[in-house]
Amino acid sequence: MEYNIDFLYVGDGDAIIIWARNPQVQDFVFFLDGGNAGNGQKIVDHYNTLIRPHLYDKRLIGFINSHPHADHINGLVEVIEILKSEINFGIYNDPVECITQEHKDRIHQSYIENEDPDITHLYETFEKIEILNELCVNYGIKRYNAYSDDINFFGGSFKILSPSKDFYVNLVQYFSDVDFLKTVDYSRKTLPYITEEENLQPCAIVDAANDASPENLTGTVIQLIDSENRKYILTSDAGIDAFEYMETDGFDPENIVLVQLPHHGSRRNINTKWLSKFNPTYYIASAAGNAKHPRRAVINCIKRNLPNCGTYSTHTNKGAIAYTTNNAVFPKRYWGPATPL
Ligand SMILES: [Zn+2]
Repeated sequence: MEYNIDFLYVGDGDAIIIWARNPQVQDFVFFLDGGNAGNGQKIVDHYNTLIRPHLYDKRLIGFINSHPHADHINGLVEVIEILKSEINFGIYNDPVECITQEHKDRIHQSYIENEDPDITHLYETFEKIEILNELCVNYGIKRYNAYSDDINFFGGSFKILSPSKDFYVNLVQYFSDVDFLKTVDYSRKTLPYITEEENLQPCAIVDAANDASPENLTGTVIQLIDSENRKYILTSDAGIDAFEYMETDGFDPENIVLVQLPHHGSRRNINTKWLSKFNPTYYIASAAGNAKHPRRAVINCIKRNLPNCGTYSTHTNKGAIAYTTNNAVFPKRYWGPATPL
């Protein structure tokens, strides 16, 4: 299988189109997230002009929702509303399926009483997933869970590395626990800052605290392998705990060409060890280009440890960054080279 991966600029959010091609046989398109609300049409326009006219008649079109946060699911819902039955399948996890009715009722009650912003946020993600469920029913879209246990296509060339069903179900109990949510504050808006230290001690900042939220940790990590056995890793908003788990589950971080920096290049979802362990030729962030995303300390820490690695971000040209595993099997686009950070 060969792949063309398009990273579309949608500010702080993910909108990635994976075009998988079995040359001369069949095409597969995966819309992996769609950024915030308002980005759906732009993603469909990109698909309609640059991908769709070139697809073989034998094709399957699908979507993947990494996790139901607004900067990943809202634009994706718009993509599905536009393309309707052209989409054949959808891959995502529904947290509501993993909790008891009593548990659900408690969250609903707490939401109505406006007890905590994290609970409101959680309830809103439940509502978005409900919309996804309805769209799948309305347009005859076949649904799969986004578990590493289930998703392994093309003889292992396309697979979900995380979450496993166990990992996911455990984390859902944790992040949907009303008492737990009242004690934390994931909705906080910390002021972004850039200090001298980001340049002088970048890896210390990257390693300081890997406090990715448990919801982010359930985000899908996808691995693509091309015909030359080179790997491409799409991390959404996952983090260290997910990567550590993947390794215990058989992930071999060898021969990696490209890794998406997790969580838009935040310092909270990566550390020096994993930056070096992935050791790709390219890192790419799907980011707005503000002080936090991608975080300067993360970029500087990569430069310090991996001097031959090119780091890119979608914000640099605010268009799209594409990677093609084999130029000979995809149409030429005549785009210029992307500018590294
Ligand atoms: Zn995100």
